[in-house]
Amino acid sequence: MKSQLQVLKFGGTSVGNGERIRRVAQIIARTFHDPAEAFPIVVVSAMAKVTDQLLRIATLVCTGELQSSQHELKSFKQKHLDAADKAIHDSQKRNILLQQLEQAFVSLEQDVAYLHQVAGSSPSQNASPEAENAIPLATAAVAAWGERLSVLLVATSVSDLGLPAIPLLEEVIITHHPVLPGSKGMQQAFGVVVGADPLPEETRKNAQAIIFPLLDQQIVPVAAGFIGHTLSGRATTLGRNGSDYSASVIAAALDCAQITIYTDVDGVLSADPRQVMNTRLLPSLTYAEAARLSWFGAKVLHPRTLIPIAHRNIPVRVRNTFRPSLRGTVVGPEGRQKSGAAAITVRRHLSLITVESVDMFGAPENAGQVFALAARVGAAPVAICSSSGHHLSFVVEEDAAASVVALLQHDMGTWRVRSRNGLAACACIGSGFTVDPMSPARAITALARERIPVITQGASELGITLIVEDIDSERALRSLHRDLIAPVIPLVRHAATVNEKRHGVL
Ligand code: ADP
Ligand code: ASP
Ligand code: MG
Repeated sequence: MKSQLQVLKFGGTSVGNGERIRRVAQIIARTFHDPAEAFPIVVVSAMAKVTDQLLRIATLVCTGELQSSQHELKSFKQKHLDAADKAIHDSQKRNILLQQLEQAFVSLEQDVAYLHQVAGSSPSQNASPEAENAIPLATAAVAAWGERLSVLLVATSVSDLGLPAIPLLEEVIITHHPVLPGSKGMQQAFGVVVGADPLPEETRKNAQAIIFPLLDQQIVPVAAGFIGHTLSGRATTLGRNGSDYSASVIAAALDCAQITIYTDVDGVLSADPRQVMNTRLLPSLTYAEAARLSWFGAKVLHPRTLIPIAHRNIPVRVRNTFRPSLRGTVVGPEGRQKSGAAAITVRRHLSLITVESVDMFGAPENAGQVFALAARVGAAPVAICSSSGHHLSFVVEEDAAASVVALLQHDMGTWRVRSRNGLAACACIGSGFTVDPMSPARAITALARERIPVITQGASELGITLIVEDIDSERALRSLHRDLIAPVIPLVRHAATVNEKRHGVL
C-alpha cells in the first residue's frame, strides 16, 4: 500500500470533451499503477468554457431573459451528455452516469430558479449579511455545477478503466462567507462569482473525514476544484480560475507529498505561448518566482496556489495532459541558478494612481492610509512604483481606479489625487535578474528600440516591472522576450543556385 499522497489536478481544457476525459482517466490509472508514484487524489475543473456558460445563464435569469437562459441550459446539458458518450465505453456504467447527470441537471435548474427568485426581490434595509449577499451566493450555487458534473464524468471514466474510483459529491473545502468588496454595489453585479477564503482547520477535518476512509480501501477520490461550502452549508467558490488554488488547499489538508497541475502547455514557459512564438520551458522555478509570475498575469498558475503549501515545501509540478511523457516544471524551494530573466509576463488593464501633497512642507504621505482606503473598495495595489515624502504612485486594476480615486479625494484632504488609465505592467522575472548587472539596462533598451515609452517602473530582487501603455503591451512583451530570453533568429533566404532553378527544386 502506498503511504504517500499526491493531488493530480486537471484543468478545463484537459477535461474539455469526452475523449480528453478518457485521456485524463488513463493518466490517473498510470499514476495509480506506478509503484514510484504517490497515491492519487484527483481534483478537477469544469469542462472548458462551462463556468462561463453557467455565469451567462446566471446573468440571463437575473435580467429576466428566460428564453435565452433556457437555450444556454440546453446546450450546457448536451455538452455533458456528449462527453459521457465518449468518455465511458461500458454501457452499464454509462447508463448509470446518464441518470446521475439527469439528476444533477434537475438540481441545477432548482438553483437557477432560486437565483431568479432572489434577483427579483430587493433585500430589506436591515437584512442579514447572508440576505444582503443573496445574489452572489445564489450565483455561486449555479456556478458550482460545472465542477460537480466534471467529477461525475471523470470518476466514471476512471472506473471504466477498471480502477476503484468515487466521485465526491460533497465539497471538500470549507470557506468563510464571501466578503463582497464595497458590499452594496456588488449586489447588482449579475453573473459574477466572489471568491471566498478557505478555512484551513475546518477544511482539514472535513477533507480527512471524507477522503481517508476511501484511501483505506485504495479507492481513488475525485473531488471538485474551485468550489467549497460555508459552515452553514451554502455553496461558495474560490474565485474565477480558482481550481489550482483548491488543489493546493486540498493537498495541504491531506499532507500530500506533491501536487501535479495538468494543463494544456508543457509546463511554465518563459512567456505566454499564445503571445510569444519561441518560448522556453522552465524546468524549475522557486516559489517566489512562480508567485511573481502568476501575480503579473501568467494564467498557468492561479496567484494563490502556493499560499497553502510553500511554507511546507510541498512541490508543485506543472505538466501537459496532452504530452504526459514530458516532465514539465517543478515549482519548489529551490529554483534554477542561471543569471538574467527567466520569464516575461504582462498584466493588462491597469491604472496608475498618483497621490501628491500640494504643500511641499506639509505632513509626509501616509502610505498606510492610502492603501487602507484602496483596500476598502477591494483594490490591492498591483505594483508600487515610486514613493517619496510627498508623493506615492501605484497601479491598480482599471475597474477599481474610479472608486479608489473618489475615496482618496474624499478622505485625504489637501492631497492631489490623479489617475491614468489604459496601462499594463510588463514584468521581467527571475532570481538571477539582479545577478547580471546588465539586466535592467537590457530591458529598458529593448523597449527603447521599439520606441515604447516606459511610463514608470518598479524593481525588486526578483526583477523589474515596466509600466507601459496597454496598447503597447504585447509588442513590449515580445521585444523583452527577444532581447532578454530568446533571440528571434531571422530566417535567412539563400539565393537559389542556377542548378536548383534548372532542376525545378524551387
Ligand atoms: P487550465 O484550464 O488547465 O487551468 P489555464 O488556461 O488556466 O489552464 O492556464 C494555462 C494557460 O496559461 C496556457 O494555455 C497558456 O496560454 C497560459 N499561460 C500564460 N502564461 C504562461 C506561461 N508563462 N507559461 C505557460 N502558460 C502560460
Ligand atoms: N471552472 C472555474 C473557472 O473557470 C475554475 C477553474 O477552471 O480554474 O473559473
Ligand atoms: Mg487555470
